[in-house]
Order: sequence, then structure tokens, then C-alpha cells
Amino acid sequence: MEFATFADRAAAIEAEPADLEIVAHVRDLLEDAGDPESTDNGADDRIATVEIVARFVQGRVFPAWDSTTLDIGPSACYEAIARAAGQNVDADDVEERLADVGEIGDVAASYDFGGQRGLSAFAAGQGVGDNDLTVREVHDELVDLAAAEGEGSEDRKVDILFGLFNRCSSDEARYLARLVLSEMRIGVGEGTVRDAVAAAFDVPEERVERALQVSNDYGEVARVARDEGLEGLDAMELAVGRPVQAMLAQAGTVTDALEEWEQAAVEWKYDGARIQLHYDPDGLESAAGEASDATTRVFSRNMEDVTGALPEVVEFAEGTLEGPAILDGEVVAVDEDGDPLPFQEVLKRFRRKHDVAKAREDVSVRPVFFDCLHADGDDLLEEPLTARHDRLEGVLADGPQQDPDDVDGLSLLWLADDPDEIESIDAAALEAGHEGIMLKNPDSAYSPGRRGKHWRKRKPDVETLDCVVTGAEWGEGRRATFLGTFELSVRDEATGDLETVGKVATGITDEKLADLTERLEPHIAAEEGQEVDLEPAVVFEVGYEEIQTSPTYSSGYALRFPRFIAVRDDKEPGDADTLERVERLRS
Ligand code: ATP
Repeated sequence: MEFATFADRAAAIEAEPADLEIVAHVRDLLEDAGDPESTDNGADDRIATVEIVARFVQGRVFPAWDSTTLDIGPSACYEAIARAAGQNVDADDVEERLADVGEIGDVAASYDFGGQRGLSAFAAGQGVGDNDLTVREVHDELVDLAAAEGEGSEDRKVDILFGLFNRCSSDEARYLARLVLSEMRIGVGEGTVRDAVAAAFDVPEERVERALQVSNDYGEVARVARDEGLEGLDAMELAVGRPVQAMLAQAGTVTDALEEWEQAAVEWKYDGARIQLHYDPDGLESAAGEASDATTRVFSRNMEDVTGALPEVVEFAEGTLEGPAILDGEVVAVDEDGDPLPFQEVLKRFRRKHDVAKAREDVSVRPVFFDCLHADGDDLLEEPLTARHDRLEGVLADGPQQDPDDVDGLSLLWLADDPDEIESIDAAALEAGHEGIMLKNPDSAYSPGRRGKHWRKRKPDVETLDCVVTGAEWGEGRRATFLGTFELSVRDEATGDLETVGKVATGITDEKLADLTERLEPHIAAEEGQEVDLEPAVVFEVGYEEIQTSPTYSSGYALRFPRFIAVRDDKEPGDADTLERVERLRS
């Protein structure tokens, strides 16, 4: 397929407001990409044009699972455009036009590269008229460009791009420039390509979607749909070593979750960075499909390879796992006692490319896994969450170092149908220094890339209350010198008394606890065992999920899932919220 054909269609897609028509254009592009015999040129194992087209329409050169980038900055691209545009143009001129026009595609299209065509064809040893750029040539050149490394690579990249622009018409240049700078933006998302593949090769949309979820590459899906039909699509599987998109969470409440699912799978929400671990004791294939000795690869939520930054995760996998596996989890920064540190700490490690050993001395990390997508040859995406979690426990517990009662690296899962039980899990999570809880549908499948209602993160608080802190408890162990759980009260304006509405376990850092202890300690009025009464002095702003009537607290109400937000230094106890406001908020 000529690149000009691709550019024509891209222009038509961009001008088209109707989704169905856009799908029809993409379908035509896929159909026109050529039949199986004509696409592989009989020469080698290069990919089929239909694969390239399915990626190009989404502005991708590489499959979604492949984090290879062209690694070329905008200025190198401007330079290539300027050189192709002729003697009187330089990169500054390109930049000036960009400042006027606002979009690199229009800028590239505003130059006339035609004057150089005959020349470049001559240089390339081609006859004039035999110079039409094909989709495959653009692809292959960009792959070469991405591969250029080391000394002189920047010049080589510019040379390759110059060669391509030199052969472009205005429309071709527009879409080439956008492709190179990852700014395709013609309105083709994954849903469009899914529908277009289904329409072009007469296969059901859901099966195309499933194939995408396991392969994470619409290029491959399009080729398999065309060449092998539904049977081929259904036979596509996860590949250990190739990341899939992470399943994501919506915001939601405990009340809604329990209404919908009868019981919820409750997990701690770890405050770290998402990781997907791929492990194969026999060695994983490299991105290029070659065998390698590496057993472990770790990917970020955006499917970047972060293996080098996280040696602890590699060591964990090699010391624990026995068979091939794909695990989903979180990497958390921990202190010397293994207690979690705030998210900012993990960021010091997460994408680090240099001085990893040194950084590791300052901050260590450990993985916690909450899902298992593949184990020992079995793809588990369609299995219910509880079955996947059992499998996860199985693969981790088999490790030689593991204590069967406290499996290292396993995120716990509780099945609960009682809000009080969920509340205590939330409190325990906060107490242990984690972010809170996740609520998941125990029967749900793993849907890569989906932000569905089967995974819920606790909804951010809609309302907050300013409560007086009237009591606290000394912590335990390492936190014995800190005040921990805080009793919250509001004012009853009628009597002038403070009435309790709940307790908040802050789930915050030692540093913050130390600060709160320092503020509250001077106000201790009485002490018994770990419990202290505080004279009213400090006001906390707290969030909560809902207010319920309750015999436990003197106000007759209890805040459900209270969480500490901030100390209100600007407020005196007399400015705190009132019982009347609590009553109003409840109704
Ligand atoms: P978003 O995913 O909405 O863009 P975000 O990255 O801030 O935002 P949240 O939505 O707040 O993350 O929460 C989802 C994230 O929580 C997951 O991507 C994962 O990194 C993390 N997480 C921690 N513990 C769990 C768990 N038990 N199950 C699922 N995700 C968890």
C-alpha cells in the first residue's frame, strides 16, 4: 500500500464527524492493505502491511505492548523537515511556523518537498516515477530510526527522517510528522479499530476485543483475523514476557458495592506504583522475539520495562516462583522494619536508570501481588477473582522461603458482606500505613485496560467535618511513643457539650504522627492504660463515607470510614462543626 493512500484516508477520517463512517474508512484501509500472499513479499518474516496500518491509524509504530520509542525529539524532526524543504529553510523557520499554526502536521504540509524528489530518487538508485513511498517503507525506516543508538545516532535519525520527508507530498508529510511525534490524533481509538477489524474480516467484535486483551496489539489481531479468522483469534493467548494493559478501578462506596455484589472482596490499597511481573524460569523472549536468559521482566502501568530499576522484584521472583507466571501488583517503598513509606519514596526508585544500587541503599522496595493472570501455562483472565487469587497464593506459597501462614508478597483478600467488618479492614489497612481499601467483585474476570465497576477504590469524600479531638490512644511497638487513634467530637450547641462521633486511625507517616503527638500531648487531661483524654484544643478536618445512627458514640451518630485530612490550625474548638450539622448531613 502506498503511503499516499494511507494519508488520503487519514485526511478523510480526520474530516469525518460520524463514528460509523470513521469505522468504515478504517475497515477499507485494512481491507486494502493487501492479501496474505502479497504482503510478506515472500522475502522474510517482516510484518504484514495490515499490521502496520492497524497501528499507524492509532498513531503507533510499535505494538502497544512494546515500549520501544523512536527516541527522537521535536527539534530533530524540525531539522529533518527543514532540510527536506530546501536551502532557504531552517529548523527555526519550522518552529516559527509551528508557533503560528499550532500543529506539526499542518506545518509539514505547508512546505513543498516535491523539488527534491527527483534528486532523492536518483540518490536512492531508483528511476523517477518509481519513487512512491509505501506504508511498509515508512514503517521499516522508522524501525531503523528507533534502533539507531550511540554516537552519531541523532544525525542518523535526522538523516532517515530527511530521506522520508524528501519523498513526501503535503498530505503524506502531514501524517508522517504526526506519526513521528506521536501526535496522530485523527480520532481513531481502540474501539474504532476493534469495530473495523470485525467489519473487515467478518468476525464478532467481542472476540476481537478478547484477542486484543491477550495480545495487546491491534496489528497482530488484524492479521490473525484476516488470515486465520475466528478460530485464529480465539486461539490467541497471553505471552509471558509481553505486558497486557492493567485493569483499573472506579471510585465507589462500600454501600454500593455490597448492594450490587452481596459480598465484596476487600483488599488493602497499597500506596506504591503498579507493576506487572512476567517470569519464566526457562528465559523470556526479548521484545524482538529472540530467546534470552532473562527470567524476569517488570512493567509499569504504562507497560514500560522497569526491570532494571527494581532488582528486589527480580530477586523476589527468582527466589519464589517456580513456573511461568504473570502477576499483577504494586511495588511499595519500605523502611528497615518493612513498614510502608509514602508514595513519593517509591518514585525515587521506580524509573531510575542509573545508580540503582546506590538508590537501593537509600530506599528499598518490595512487591505485593494482588492478581494472577497466568500460571504454569494457564491463562486465567476469564477465571473469577477468587479463583485467580487462590492461584496467586498457590504460586507464591510454593516458594522455598515462604511461611505458609504469612506468604511474603501476597496481598490479602477478605470476602465480606458486613459493612462493620469492611470498616475494620479499612482501619487495619490505614493503621498498617496503607492507603485504604479496594473493593472488588469476587466473581469478576480480569479485563485488561478496563476501568469498570468490578474494581472500586473508595470514593473520595464528598463532605468533610471539622471535629474536635477529645481523646487518643498511644500506639504499639515502634509507635508506642506516638498518639495514634484519635477520638472525634462535635459541639452540641444546645448544651455546649462535645459529643463523640467516631475515631480516626490516621494511617499516616511516622513523621506526621510525631507532629500530631507533639501538638496534642500538652493537652492530655487524663490517662488510663493506652487511652488518654484530651482537653479540647485541636480541630481535625476529617472525611467520611456516610453518617449512621449508632449507640457507640455519645452523639448517637457514627462517621462511617472516617479519614484524617488535615489539622485545622485556623479553627478553635468553638469553631468546630455542630451536632446539628451532623444531623443535617445525615438526612
Ligand atoms: P487512576 O488509576 O484512577 O488513574 P491512580 O493511579 O491514582 O489513578 P487509583 O485509581 O487511586 O490510582 O487506584 C488504583 C491503583 O491502586 C492501581 O492502579 C494500583 O496501582 C493501586 N493498588 C494498590 N493496591 C491495590 C489492590 N489491592 N488492587 C488493585 N490496585 C491496587
